Amino acid sequence: MLRIFFLVGVLISYNISAQTVCGGSDFPVNFDSDVEQFACSRTSAIFNNIKKFQSHYTPDANSPILTVSVALHIWRDGNGNGNYLDNPADRAYLTNLFETVMSNGFKYNSSPSDPLPGVNDLTDTRIRLKLQDIYYYDDDTYYLNGVSNNAKKQLNARALELHPECLKSINFHFSGNTSVGHASQHTSGGSSTNSPRNTFIWSGYTGNGLGDGSAPLMTNTLAVKVMLNHELGHAFGLCHTDDEPACKEKIDPNSLDFLSDIYAPPYTYPDGGWHLDPTSPSNTATNNVMGNTAAAAYLSPLQIGRIRRTLSQHYLLQSYTSGYSEVPLEVDVDETWDFPHKIYQDVVVKSGARLTITCVTTFVSQAKIIIEPGAELILDRGRLTKAKFEDYWQGVYVAGNSSAGQTEADQGKISIINGGEISYALDAISNTNVDSQGNWLWGTTGGIIHCDNAYFLNNRRDVQLLAYTPPYAKNESYNAFFKNCTFLRREDSYS
Ligand SMILES: [Zn+2]
Repeated sequence: MLRIFFLVGVLISYNISAQTVCGGSDFPVNFDSDVEQFACSRTSAIFNNIKKFQSHYTPDANSPILTVSVALHIWRDGNGNGNYLDNPADRAYLTNLFETVMSNGFKYNSSPSDPLPGVNDLTDTRIRLKLQDIYYYDDDTYYLNGVSNNAKKQLNARALELHPECLKSINFHFSGNTSVGHASQHTSGGSSTNSPRNTFIWSGYTGNGLGDGSAPLMTNTLAVKVMLNHELGHAFGLCHTDDEPACKEKIDPNSLDFLSDIYAPPYTYPDGGWHLDPTSPSNTATNNVMGNTAAAAYLSPLQIGRIRRTLSQHYLLQSYTSGYSEVPLEVDVDETWDFPHKIYQDVVVKSGARLTITCVTTFVSQAKIIIEPGAELILDRGRLTKAKFEDYWQGVYVAGNSSAGQTEADQGKISIINGGEISYALDAISNTNVDSQGNWLWGTTGGIIHCDNAYFLNNRRDVQLLAYTPPYAKNESYNAFFKNCTFLRREDSYS
């Protein structure tokens, strides 16, 4: 039993990290194990009834705006020719292309050319694209690379070798190969060792901008916009809505990701074809981004939901994404989180609810967990940590009532058992509530902390205890214990 005494009226905040360890091969804990390698059962009711469905992620006005980082890579010959030039005019063109055509094209959602009754279409995906940078390569070896898997890997590997910061972006390559026109492909990356560990899109740069043949650069941006958004759609988990065989949506009302807001009886695929006019009565083509027409500009609510689910649950795609909503995720019934996900808002465990985490939950830097009085958070082998490429997250605030005794009805409670872990937090556990600015709220100390076989890794501060002095409980032991716990810090970065 860890006994912690408090002085009346004196604020105590201290760090009980046991030791500091500089990185070394003998370090006993695998800090760098990736989220995707954490075995998660995904058998909980909350996952199977709610969190696995794309409809759950269709955004509303309170949903976090998710911003995905994108880097542009321009491949030229050894003399710096054969593609966009590294001069102010071309840089301005590409930047403008990105901001006004690509980014806005993904942000503002058009109306459907073929609406289904009852579908509440969205005008804003609440997804943004952020240009990391434009990179130029004068490289006779690779600048004509095409769309084969090996060719794509070579481009991406070379780009990452020269610019490792691009690991945190989706990389969009403009090859100098004129023979492939506007062909483009995507890959979902993957975790195999011979695959680049970030998603990328390949695109030939030439053509007349309308999707036809070769022509001078910068004549039209339509094809680039359509192509980028289409390929990003693939990267984010979408397939074609027309009958394109390589990857087409399932028309099966019983399948998990059936797009019921696109397909209605008699359940046939619409026509696809670059030059088809979706508004023409002579064909069934649509303006869906994944529908393979030049007019592509629409995503259905379920498609947007699927993308946002990917940005929450896919270990790779989530790591390119940032964003934070000040509207918290409230847990007001008992839930078990046995699936990995990234959180773009605070989590508040409401009074009377118990949240059990048996998998990995990662947080953006602004996010925290608040456990209200009468609520409990259990980390049963579960891990709370910062999201990859993010700064340290805020940590867990176990809110209490300084005027009440330390019963579970009156205080928040955190229990960490079976190797549960909190890592890369500014303040892993605090026994107080905080306001929206992160300021301690007076009168809210008293949260209960039970840690048995818990890990505190690389936190700025592992446990932060503020004075709890109910009038009738002076000098009694605080209701907290740390048994068989590990407190370690290593001077390196998770990402
Ligand atoms: Zn496609």
